[in-house]
Amino acid sequence: MRRAIYPGSFDPITKGHLDVIKRAATLFDELVVAVAFNMQKQTLFPADERVALIEEAVAGESNIRVTRFEGLLVNFARDQEASVVVRGLRAISDFEFEFQMALMNRKLEPAIETVFLTPREEYTYLSSRIVKEVARLGGNIEAFVPVSVASALRARFARAES
Ligand code: ADP
Repeated sequence: MRRAIYPGSFDPITKGHLDVIKRAATLFDELVVAVAFNMQKQTLFPADERVALIEEAVAGESNIRVTRFEGLLVNFARDQEASVVVRGLRAISDFEFEFQMALMNRKLEPAIETVFLTPREEYTYLSSRIVKEVARLGGNIEAFVPVSVASALRARFARAES
């Protein structure tokens, strides 16, 4: 049984993340999408809402589980009996940070391997940050995020304006 973890902030999930999730789910027996809960990091959506939005986007996929986690990723991976951490690589700009994280995690837990996946070309420019920025300014974000995320973003920013 090969279990992999895909950790991230997912604030909120985009079609780029979803593309990575679907690819990873074909490579491993089970994929745990792990939503990082970090008191220090300000997010637009609380962790439970980020989990719910991902659950809605992957509904019906039997080997994908969504959960939140706190603390050190390698400890969480050990608890989950996962041997692989999946991360997405969009461009060279991701590389330095991802490389550093992968090597640090290997130092902390040599038994866990980091695997990098690249999304479809059309999603390589997507990030949660840019989607939030477009949504905040009233732009159309339907092409970049699942339907439920688009409505959650609209609701969030409509509330902010009123
Ligand atoms: P974090 O705060 O951990 O970087 P993110 O939610 O921003 O969390 O990203 C989680 C992972 O998904 C990271 O490895 C990131 O590089 C990757 N990722 C984010 N957006 C995309 C995308 N459009 N295509 C592929 N991978 C992506």
